[in-house]
Amino acid sequence: MVSLMELYQLLPKLNCKECGKPTCMAFASSLLSGEADLADCPPLYESEYAEQLQQLESLLAPVSGATETGLIIHEELCFGCGNCVVACPVNVANDPHGAAVGLAPSSDKVILRVLNGVVVATNVHECRRLGNDKILCDVCIVTCPSKAIEFV
Ligand code: SF4
Ligand code: SF4
Ligand code: SF4
Repeated sequence: MVSLMELYQLLPKLNCKECGKPTCMAFASSLLSGEADLADCPPLYESEYAEQLQQLESLLAPVSGATETGLIIHEELCFGCGNCVVACPVNVANDPHGAAVGLAPSSDKVILRVLNGVVVATNVHECRRLGNDKILCDVCIVTCPSKAIEFV
């Protein structure tokens, strides 16, 4: 995942406030949270910053396969062990007698399930990383032995 410092280093660092933020660092933070767009920084579109703009665009481009939570499942790495399925706290809360104990899901509110030997994500709006709570849950990542789950 792109870091605040990576974004900051590529900005013009003029602290000119044209973007409506007090500093370039504050703007970098808004970029990271999705509250600001690169287009809000006019100096960035001057020719001397063309290369930095290109790098920023590529860092902030939506990643192919990412869900609305930023969840990506690398199918080529997943071997369907189900660790993430039984560990996901949303699965546990919504389907305690099905997905949470390694059985076929009995609720359509689960997020992670194994289908044809590979995990798939549905109902990602239920993921703890979304919504008002925005809890930085990483249970599915840390329980995966093959690093098949990533958030971007
Ligand atoms: S407009 Fe660009 S250069 Fe100026 S403060 Fe904002 S981020 Fe920095
Ligand atoms: S981040 Fe947490 S809530 Fe979201 S899918 Fe992974 S384990 Fe479930
Ligand atoms: S823990 Fe990893 S390998 Fe196992 S089912 Fe989940 S994503 Fe696939």
